[in-house]
Amino acid sequence: MISGIIENNIAEVKGRIAEAAKVAGKSFQEITLVAVCKYFDASVTQAVVDAGLLDLGENRPQQLWEKAETLDGQGIRWHQIGHLQRNKVRRTLPLITLMHAADSLRLLREVSKEAVRIEKEQDVLVEVNISGDENKHGFNPEEMESVLNECEQMAGIKVRGLMAMAGLGSGLDGARREFEQMRLLQERLLTVKPDGIELRELSMGMSRDYDIAIEQGATMVRVGNSLFNGIER
Ligand SMILES: *Cc1c(COP(=O)(O)O)cnc(C)c1O
Repeated sequence: MISGIIENNIAEVKGRIAEAAKVAGKSFQEITLVAVCKYFDASVTQAVVDAGLLDLGENRPQQLWEKAETLDGQGIRWHQIGHLQRNKVRRTLPLITLMHAADSLRLLREVSKEAVRIEKEQDVLVEVNISGDENKHGFNPEEMESVLNECEQMAGIKVRGLMAMAGLGSGLDGARREFEQMRLLQERLLTVKPDGIELRELSMGMSRDYDIAIEQGATMVRVGNSLFNGIER
């Protein structure tokens, strides 16, 4: 029952991703769908895995730890998509494929230190506060060049790209403009970044705006609600 609903929802989301990718001149395969299962427990999350999605996003570390343990051994790639406190780095790092929300130099330094300690090279995305909302995390666009220069100096960290969220009050037109600004920022940073930094990935777009984000250059979308339409929390 639940698995049928989830399969239908995934098919619909994939269809919209494919259409948006076409608009952006990309193929469906170039977009990574990160399934955000934070509203549901491990059993519903298992249904998402059974439907074939292995890139799973969690924003609360506690929940990520628990699910990673319960759902171990299935080739799941865990994405930490929310703000991470430094005291949660140690337990989180061994579990995750990609950290989306590297939002301060203090956090990045902690991740670097821990990655070196456990001999891991940690892929990270640097979060940009593109909307300028005061209660949003992330770096200002203007400081990104120096942030990337600092990241280049940190052992154990590999910057793969940028992450952003549209402002809460931005509406869809505002979101489109903000996503476009992210693409322009990515293009500009590509011309000035240090060699060791890679800026291929742009993680942006959620249920309400992932198609717009892809049209504007997103390579990863973090979709939660749309995968669970029709399922009670
Ligand atoms: C919850 C969350 C999402 C998914 O949001 P939906 O609206 O459920 O698609 C994406 N990114 C982050 C950082 C989130 O916390």
